[in-house]
Amino acid sequence: MIGAIIGDIVGSRFEFGPAPEKGFELFTPECSYTDDTICTIAIADAIMNKKDYKQSLLEWCRKYPDPMGSYGHRFYRWIHSENPEPMDSYGNGAAMRVSPVGWLFNDFNEVMEEAKRSAEVSHNHPEGIKGAQCVAALIYWLRTVRVTKEKVQSAVKKSFDYELPSMRDILRIGAQNHFDGTCQETVPMAIRCFIDSDSFEEVIRKAVLCDGDTDTKAAIAGSIAEAYYEVPETMVETAMSYLPDDMLAVLSQYYDVMREWVEE
Ligand SMILES: [Mg+2]
Repeated sequence: MIGAIIGDIVGSRFEFGPAPEKGFELFTPECSYTDDTICTIAIADAIMNKKDYKQSLLEWCRKYPDPMGSYGHRFYRWIHSENPEPMDSYGNGAAMRVSPVGWLFNDFNEVMEEAKRSAEVSHNHPEGIKGAQCVAALIYWLRTVRVTKEKVQSAVKKSFDYELPSMRDILRIGAQNHFDGTCQETVPMAIRCFIDSDSFEEVIRKAVLCDGDTDTKAAIAGSIAEAYYEVPETMVETAMSYLPDDMLAVLSQYYDVMREWVEE
């Protein structure tokens, strides 16, 4: 989950800002947490405190109605409608918020089921659900059976029918300034950034350099990379310095749960 938050904050200033350049500074005063962090926190809070996914998303998003970069148009309407119904969406919002599911459930079938439930309250299009399930499954596979990077490509093809684009193709698309806001575009790109990198930081940098929906791509790639690489402590601490107290409280509860499991 901190991997998603780091990716979100690092990518935030490029989503609607200047194109990122190689060697860009990771954290600057222009960075902020955005909808990706808020929704990820909401999902973690729902799981740990036995809240309904929809209720938790509404609570958190209404509490933070105007984050940097705002919310997607349709999701914004969903948040503020009186009785929000699933909107047949395959936006990448389903995949960027799902990482706590991959960590907080310890059975593969449960991970798949909960990923679906976390998505379908708003993103109930089959591609939206699939995007969430793929990211959660990858996190689960990487942290439990330590699936190798070589196997990731065939595993996501076999289980989710995703073809991963090459890095070269992704950068070509980015150069056309194409906004890649769907699960079917963002998730395979984020997985490619993970496979083609050798450290957590490199994954985040690659995902941001793809341009387009930089914060969400880096959030998804970062959430996957966290299950495989050590996340540098300085990146964790710096990212946390951007978060308000109520989000930090959810993070701290999350780390307590993780610690209890390790000690068990
Ligand atoms: Mg965002």
